[in-house]
Amino acid sequence: MKKFYITTPVYYVNDVPHIGHTYTTVAADVLARWHGSIGEETFFLTGTDEHGANIETKAKTLKLEPKKYADQIAAKFIKTWQELNIANNNFLRTTNQVHIKAVQKALRYMHDQGDIYLSKYQGWYCRGCEQYKNERDLVNGLCPDHLTRPEKISEECYNFKLSRYQAELLKKIKKDELEILPLKRKNEMVSFYEKEGLTDVSFSRKNVNWGIPIPWDKSHTVYVWADAFLNYLTGLGWDGSAGQSPKFWPPAVQLMSKDILRVHATIWPAMLLSLKLPLPKKIFIHGYFLINGQKMSKTLGNVIAPDDLIKKYGVDAARYLIMSATAFGHDGDIGWEKFNDKYNADLANGLGNLVARVSNLLEKNKLALKLKINSDKKLVKAYKDSLENFKFDEALKLLWQKMRSADEFLSHKKPWKMLDSKKIKNILQPLAQDILNAASLLKPFMPTVSEKIIKQFTAKEIKKGEVLFPRI
Ligand SMILES: [Zn+2]
Repeated sequence: MKKFYITTPVYYVNDVPHIGHTYTTVAADVLARWHGSIGEETFFLTGTDEHGANIETKAKTLKLEPKKYADQIAAKFIKTWQELNIANNNFLRTTNQVHIKAVQKALRYMHDQGDIYLSKYQGWYCRGCEQYKNERDLVNGLCPDHLTRPEKISEECYNFKLSRYQAELLKKIKKDELEILPLKRKNEMVSFYEKEGLTDVSFSRKNVNWGIPIPWDKSHTVYVWADAFLNYLTGLGWDGSAGQSPKFWPPAVQLMSKDILRVHATIWPAMLLSLKLPLPKKIFIHGYFLINGQKMSKTLGNVIAPDDLIKKYGVDAARYLIMSATAFGHDGDIGWEKFNDKYNADLANGLGNLVARVSNLLEKNKLALKLKINSDKKLVKAYKDSLENFKFDEALKLLWQKMRSADEFLSHKKPWKMLDSKKIKNILQPLAQDILNAASLLKPFMPTVSEKIIKQFTAKEIKKGEVLFPRI
């Protein structure tokens, strides 16, 4: 049986779930559901990244133990994904003891192999990023993401011999053995490898207590990224053994936003090479949601929370609005007005209205139909191609084109003015078939509504059901 393993990043618990996390997670859910529906054995992993100085500081300001604080935020993520009907197979928390043991075992192996060595590090450290910054990454001496001045830190640390993997990784990326999508992002990374290249990176911190202890030198804790990356393995039950792939390994695709591309295209695959494990087949980088061209931020007060979307539109509509808002690999503008317009146009007046009109006519005329799910092979193929190439918006457009022409056909033929039941049936039968086909393909995006429509249109007597999407 073909296997399909998909991951989101482990989300950092310095913040509650926002629409950015939601975007990645719903996209992964859609793909997992789709691959499952065509008979592949799928595994979908998400989780939370819970160690590091940021979390320690944040917990301190709230007068909580870091673990207590992480428990609260992790619970919020779990609840949000349940509310959004996310069907992940596991939720990995990096404070999980099994994960911690595996990280220690893996790092010990890398150390024994000579890939981790004691060194001295001097550099610009941004607390916000929990990363050392290169001089050239700073803008006027400030971290471009946090607008704060990184600290000059000099400390004893264990380094990872990242430079050792430069040639091999560049080759693999160029040959798409580690495929980076969209192409623009691959080109960025190839250029990074060729112009700047990989230099060894610090894999431990001496003054951060809230982290996994380095097993052979407990005065250090593991650098948060090194800890976090291994979740993709431990989430499958991996125990830290080099050269031993857990079931489902490697990922068919790993989804993420562009701010974490570079580490995922350098440190992460280098760790896998060091651990003698296969690389992920693909990583896909999606864009950011912008509001009127601006990045969402708490200080600007323009944050859209997943809870608010669900409250306003319902779960399935919220999933639809997020996935249809923009092309997946690009930034896109969103906002309440845009969501309202799209909700009314595509769902209330579109899908919902078509289902209501056709089912109402079928009920009135007491017509018995024989319909088949996925009878439109051309549509199924085009939809599959779009979805498997991460073109969520295009996959949905295909379905909406079908429904729009069905709606036009109905308005043009006006079967409600007819008396001959055979003629009426000839008009309604293909329309009902189009609705059933669209509903069945919509399942990965809108699992509940789709199931309702399928039930309605495969019943012995088709009845006008409840209103699917009340107008806003
Ligand atoms: Zn920063």
